[in-house]
Amino acid sequence: MELRVRALESILSEKGYLDPAALDAIVQAYETKIGPHNGARVVAKAWSDPAFRQALLDDASKAVGTLGHVSRVGDHLVAVENTPDRHNMVVCTLCSCYPWEMLGLPPVWYKAAPYRSRAVKDPRGVLADFGVSLPKETEIRVWDSTAETRFLVLPMRPAGTEGWSEEQLAELVTRDSMIGTGFPKTPGAPS
Ligand code: FE
Repeated sequence: MELRVRALESILSEKGYLDPAALDAIVQAYETKIGPHNGARVVAKAWSDPAFRQALLDDASKAVGTLGHVSRVGDHLVAVENTPDRHNMVVCTLCSCYPWEMLGLPPVWYKAAPYRSRAVKDPRGVLADFGVSLPKETEIRVWDSTAETRFLVLPMRPAGTEGWSEEQLAELVTRDSMIGTGFPKTPGAPS
């Protein structure tokens, strides 16, 4: 695969279809700037700032845009909030649509057929495989991403974080908690 990518890259740059410097800039952006820390900052801000939380739930693309440090995600980013009554989980049943700008590159399992097919049929079973167990009464809502609409799960703020700064809170936000296949870290637990 690596060889094929390299061969394709040299042909495209030889023919002038591709600027190697532009490609390097994109790779570097994904390695250093784009990643789950962007989403973690958004979640931490929503936990600390009720007005931002509301704005995020009303129109996530717009709310995230006001932060300046992240580019827009597809055409339409939707934030879905976990509550004691409802847990949200995100999948792309067709392919692998994912809020890259918020979460970086998708994990391998997100693109894998078993996750994509089982997330809808048996969300509770999939969550159990991730070590996530929810009370029986908690409804699990599965959101199917598309090229136009991407979802960001707003997990519940962990207990014991009263008075924490946004920076401290962001440290607790895991990638999987923003996909709905995990929880944020517990304060004080070994990471
Ligand atoms: Fe997709």
